[in-house]
Amino acid sequence: MTQEVVLDVFRASGALLEGHFRLSSGLHSSGYLQCALVLQHPRHAEALGAAIASRARALGATVVLSPALGGVVIGQETGRALSVRAIFAERQDGAMTLRRGFTLGPSDRVLVVEDVVTTGGSTRETMDVARAAGALVVGASSIIDRGSSTDLGVPYFALAKVVLPAYDPAACPLCEKGQPVTKPGSRPT
Ligand SMILES: [Zn+2]
Repeated sequence: MTQEVVLDVFRASGALLEGHFRLSSGLHSSGYLQCALVLQHPRHAEALGAAIASRARALGATVVLSPALGGVVIGQETGRALSVRAIFAERQDGAMTLRRGFTLGPSDRVLVVEDVVTTGGSTRETMDVARAAGALVVGASSIIDRGSSTDLGVPYFALAKVVLPAYDPAACPLCEKGQPVTKPGSRPT
């Protein structure tokens, strides 16, 4: 699955919008990305999971670990394609942890799978969960790399790279051009 095919699926699902947006952070951007809008279609989720699995197969993962909530659906589909367990870590009192009876141990080779990697922060926290349990992290992957040139210290790949600028509203070039700003997710009226 090439970057172009992945991004076409995103655009067709309304998961990648181009325009002038006010993000939840308050910053303005010329683009908006919401993986959940692609993953709501099980056939897309399955195809993206299979694409990650085919590139990750050589890593020999025995389990897929994802950070909740964003990584759960794509982690499940990657685990399905690799025929391995798919489990997730979630926050409890601010710290990523394994709950619900999920376990990892020294015999596990872990592939961390996420929807989007931006700074790599949640990926690192999820890798730490696996290592704290004695498991080996063999790699990490995401559907979208949002421009993190961060070295995660393990083999990492994404199916597509999307770099979206974020502007302070006071210095937004799109505002300067007088282009109306919209909130992503709001329906056109
Ligand atoms: Zn603006």
